[in-house]
Amino acid sequence: MVFDSIVIGGGISGLTAAHFLAEKGLKVAILEKSERLGGCIHTFQKDNYWIELGAHTCYNSYKYLTQILESKNAKDKALNRTKASYKVFKSDGKLVSIPSQLNFLQLLGNLPKIFSLKKEGLTVEQYYSKILGKGNYDKVLSKFFGAVSCQEAGDFPADMLLKRRKERNKEFPKSYTFEHGLNDLIHIISNHPNISTFLSTDILSLSKEGEKYSVQTNTNTFETEKITFATPPNITSTLIKTIQPKLSELTSKIGFSKLCSAGIIVKKENVNLEKLAGIVPESESFFSVVTRDVMPDDMYRGFSIHFKNPDITEAKIKATIKKVIGVDEKDFESFQYTIHQLPSLSLGHQELIEGINKELEGRNISITGNYFYGLSIEDCVQRSFEESERITQ
Ligand SMILES: Cc1cc2nc3c(=O)[nH]c(=O)nc-3n(C[C@H](O)[C@H](O)[C@H](O)COP(=O)(O)OP(=O)(O)OC[C@H]3O[C@@H](n4cnc5c(N)ncnc54)[C@H](O)[C@@H]3O)c2cc1C
Repeated sequence: MVFDSIVIGGGISGLTAAHFLAEKGLKVAILEKSERLGGCIHTFQKDNYWIELGAHTCYNSYKYLTQILESKNAKDKALNRTKASYKVFKSDGKLVSIPSQLNFLQLLGNLPKIFSLKKEGLTVEQYYSKILGKGNYDKVLSKFFGAVSCQEAGDFPADMLLKRRKERNKEFPKSYTFEHGLNDLIHIISNHPNISTFLSTDILSLSKEGEKYSVQTNTNTFETEKITFATPPNITSTLIKTIQPKLSELTSKIGFSKLCSAGIIVKKENVNLEKLAGIVPESESFFSVVTRDVMPDDMYRGFSIHFKNPDITEAKIKATIKKVIGVDEKDFESFQYTIHQLPSLSLGHQELIEGINKELEGRNISITGNYFYGLSIEDCVQRSFEESERITQ
């Protein structure tokens, strides 16, 4: 099968790369290994209710994403997420507010540094310990950053996490999702006359002859002159080893971590927990609990819990749900869990990315993902946009 362009990986990076290429009139094939599109965007649906096992929120500061939604006439599909707060789960089982855990004298003493201290060249731990106080960082904020990035985030470059995007598209709610969760976003973007998706597709081998790339899969041979890799860095590294050894070596240097995300749907009357956006533990085996309370429902409530150990047993998942959310297994209407992988970035990452970009120059091969600008959906879309522009120049 011959396509103008092939995109390997059907997460948000691959989908948006395919979208930008398709908008230029190219016929694009997305080859996705699993049986569904979305990757870390993973909505779990039961009847008319859903919860997110992965990403849950888009913001109106996501400029590249809102542009796609506008071009698809899907602006009105974005639904406002209502306000709710995050709480800290203490070792004694109590839920307390985040501000109540902060030492305000320490905070006030350090906060003025926010005006002079630059994030560049500092880790999350170094930067936020300096502007919020070391004690505050160790006790509360390190847990908060762990919850945001779904990993121990102390070594992350400070300028790559929690970016402030000043520009907002006021046509969209400040933070939003969709009627059927972020799965709608996947449908909206993948629904394009120039895009064909091939699920459950295993790449068996990849070769290049002249200007033509040939991808042998479990079902077909795909041929193209423009190829995009939108898989996690370790997978990209393996896939391109024979055609681009230098790029393979560079992408292999990017660290990653895995987590286990479990979700439950429960009848409202079977949960006693107050309305919450989520829970950050003081010291536990999980990074965070994310609720669906921001999109309330008459009948159900939903909770996702992100565990540090990707190999955690089902019994331990259920025991933690009982301990933290107070819901017994017999009251689960639905229960599901999955493994996610995220890049673990550290100082010096920018130089690595510059090396990858230099190696890509002048080639019809593009690499996108959540390890170029940052982890967020918007970071992925921006990279996909820039790479699609480059390979179609
Ligand atoms: C729990 C969690 C919560 C998050 N919350 C938010 C949030 O609220 N807002 C936000 O902006 N961001 C959030 N993020 C981050 C964001 O969701 C991810 O960084 C982003 O979705 C990654 O997209 P991607 O396409 O780069 O990678 P992935 O989503 O990992 O997609 C890669 C795809 O490649 C496929 N693949 C792998 N190997 C192969 C192969 N050999 N051949 C073909 N295909 C292959 C995978 O199956 C997958 O579909 C969250 C992430 C997680 C895990």
